[in-house]
Amino acid sequence: MKKILIGTHNKGKFKEIAYLLSKKYQKISPITLKIPSPKETGKSFVSNSKLKANFFSKFVDYGVISDDSGLCIKSLNNRPGVLSARLAKKKGSFYKAMKYLLKKMKHKKNRSATFICSLSLKFPNKKLVNVVGKVSGEISKSILGRNGFGYDPIFIPKFYKKTYGQMLKSKKIKIDHRYLAFRKLKKKVKIL
Ligand code: IMP
Repeated sequence: MKKILIGTHNKGKFKEIAYLLSKKYQKISPITLKIPSPKETGKSFVSNSKLKANFFSKFVDYGVISDDSGLCIKSLNNRPGVLSARLAKKKGSFYKAMKYLLKKMKHKKNRSATFICSLSLKFPNKKLVNVVGKVSGEISKSILGRNGFGYDPIFIPKFYKKTYGQMLKSKKIKIDHRYLAFRKLKKKVKIL
C-alpha cells in the first residue's frame, strides 16, 4: 500500500484530510513518526502550507500533504487569519479564543468571515502542487454546537443556518474550505 504523510499535528485536520484521501493510501501522522512541527514563519496561508510540506518531506521518502488554514473576520481586519492557531494557544483554549472574538465583534454590524485553506502536496520527486479553497459565511452571535474542532462553533457558512459546530461531521467535511481545496487538488493531480 502506498504511504502518504498528512503533515499536521492537529487531530481534527488529520481526520478531515484522511477522510478526503483515497483508501489506497496508508495515512501516516507526524505524531506517530515523532516528527516535530515546523515554525510557521510565513505571512500567508500559501507560504505556510508550502513551508510545512517542504519541512515534513525531509523526514520521509513518500508524498506529503499539508495544509494551512484559518478564519479571517472582515471587521477585525481579517484576523485571526494565519494566527488562528496561535490565538487559541495565547488565550488558553479554542473556547476562550471564540469568546474573545465574539466580544470583539459585539458591536460590529458586519459579521462576514471566510475560512481559508491552502493545501500543498509534495511528491517524492520534489515537485509541489498548491491549491486554495475558501468558504465565506458569518460569525454567529454565540458559540453554537459541539461538533467538529477549532472555530467550528462560531462559523455559519453561506446558504446555511447552522454553524459548522452544529452540523454532522459527515456534512461539514463535504462543504468546507478543506474539501473545496481538495477538489481543486484532485483536478490537478489525478493520482489522488
Ligand atoms: P494552522 O493551519 O495549523 O496554522 O491552524 C489553523 C487554525 O485554524 C487551527 O487552530 C484550526 O483549529 C483552525 N481551523 C482550520 N480549519 C478549521 C476548520 O475547518 N474548523 C475550525 N477551525 C479550523
